[in-house]
Amino acid sequence: MTGNYIACHHCGQLHERSALVSGQRASCVRCGTVLWSQGVLNSSAWLAIVLASLIAFIIASFMPVGTITAVGLKSSSTFLEAVAATWRAGYPSVAIMCFATGFLMPLLDA
Ligand SMILES: [Zn+2]
Repeated sequence: MTGNYIACHHCGQLHERSALVSGQRASCVRCGTVLWSQGVLNSSAWLAIVLASLIAFIIASFMPVGTITAVGLKSSSTFLEAVAATWRAGYPSVAIMCFATGFLMPLLDA
């Protein structure tokens, strides 16, 4: 078959592909299975979401995650400072694991 037709993956009914508008779905005439759909968001909207999430991630990375108060002294630490302190305390494997799971993987996922 040429690329202009699509077979329903549920019942095998052939359908001719057609352009869809944003948010529209094409369904099989025989069984009603959704064949393909056009997403609601275009590439500009996705870019805006990715940039907004990246900005929020950067801001969140510099916010304190823990505060210790002792003897009248108050000390706050960000996540990256806590990772560095863990490294300096002699636990490099724990620091690497915390950095990877708490900072690097979420950053690469965005
Ligand atoms: Zn079908």
